[in-house]
Amino acid sequence: MAQREPVLIIGGGPAGLAIAVSLALKDVPSIVCEAEASLPRDQRAGSFHPPTMEMLTSIGVGHDFHAMGLEVPHWQMRGREDGVIVEWDLGLIADLTPFPFRMHCEQYKLTPLLKARLESLGGKVRFSHKFLDATQDADGVTARIETPGGIEMIRGSYLIGADGARSPVRHTMGVAFEGFTWPERFLVVGCHDDFARHGYTLNAYIADPVDWGAIFKMPHEGPPGMWRVIFPIGEELPEETALSIAFGEQSLQRFQPQSTPYKILHSGIYRVHQRVAADFRQGRMLIVGDAAHVNNPLGAFGLNGALHGAFNLSEKLIPVWRGEAEDSLLDRYVRQRRAANVEFVQAQSIQNKRLLEERDPTVRAKNLDELRRTGADKAAAREFLIRSSMIWSVRRAAAID
Ligand SMILES: Cc1cc2nc3c(=O)[nH]c(=O)nc-3n(C[C@H](O)[C@H](O)[C@H](O)COP(=O)(O)OP(=O)(O)OC[C@H]3O[C@@H](n4cnc5c(N)ncnc54)[C@H](O)[C@@H]3O)c2cc1C
Repeated sequence: MAQREPVLIIGGGPAGLAIAVSLALKDVPSIVCEAEASLPRDQRAGSFHPPTMEMLTSIGVGHDFHAMGLEVPHWQMRGREDGVIVEWDLGLIADLTPFPFRMHCEQYKLTPLLKARLESLGGKVRFSHKFLDATQDADGVTARIETPGGIEMIRGSYLIGADGARSPVRHTMGVAFEGFTWPERFLVVGCHDDFARHGYTLNAYIADPVDWGAIFKMPHEGPPGMWRVIFPIGEELPEETALSIAFGEQSLQRFQPQSTPYKILHSGIYRVHQRVAADFRQGRMLIVGDAAHVNNPLGAFGLNGALHGAFNLSEKLIPVWRGEAEDSLLDRYVRQRRAANVEFVQAQSIQNKRLLEERDPTVRAKNLDELRRTGADKAAAREFLIRSSMIWSVRRAAAID
């Protein structure tokens, strides 16, 4: 039966691997094609919200991942001149989740865990398998895949594009990626120097009309860990200059002056987009994760949202593949996750950036005062944490028919 052909997953990133594991746990076979020769090991996302930890635990990788990470039960909103505006305490939502903290761990440590879990269930990632394009018919999808041995035609019952922001699958589907790109780029500088001794929590956001930014402490290769500082840089600054140690040192000194030079470990630069695909499905082809939506990192919604989409899609695809539910259930995935992304991830990440960079002193003072009031009121702070921890967006999606 055509329905029984494996699900073809394009992309061995967090979203693609989480889907493959979820399917394998329910005996739904998949073929994962990853363009690279091994799992990418670059510095990307690394802040995991409570619902994501719960989802990872449900497929048997949460425990090991938790053991590798840093629990961040408090995080701050600061003003460069005002100091701490609010220190949020996730203990206020401890009745709602077994993980009342943000969990910091590099994304590149999660994907090997997912891959090992997939292999333990009999699945496999086909590396150096690059998706080119695909055609679909009433029973399945045939993809053209470039492999070291030449072009292979691989058939699946459904094809999931978990192939990142540039998504060749989305291009094959002919779906527009609607939204915009911010003019400034983001620079991430990683260093060994301990920001906690200056009063920073392991995650903090700093509002300032010019030097706004965000800080995340990552476990790195063990103590003393790595503090990652993210801030904007202008369009005109040459990339080579921005990535130099001298520029990193100058930027960190401006950010938090200290008498000794910073021990810089890493610098990276990236463009930031706010985009959502016009549709996440075309017949038997679907997109998920960054292939379907991208956003700025302020609030740590990118990777978390990608995984929330991956789990939502798996939950629908399993009964559909088994013939226990109508194929139209997949449209519910699209309705739920598109709404969660547009209404929460896009709106909130844009609002977060506007809050940090606000230049009008009156508006800025009003915004920060409002935050202070929210932080001082237990009920309002709890509501704030339910939203910022993405519990609200997962609930909101689940309520959509
Ligand atoms: C430089 C950078 C920094 C980031 N920093 C942050 C951050 O600080 N906070 C945050 O929340 N998010 C951040 N993100 C976003 C976060 O990393 C993504 O949201 C997350 O990786 C999405 O997971 P994914 O599985 O959807 O896509 P990806 O992780 O991009 O995985 C896609 C996979 O598909 C593979 N692929 C691509 N094309 C093909 C093809 N043709 N055939 C087969 N395989 C293919 C790729 O090699 C890759 O392995 C950052 C992203 C980047 C690029």
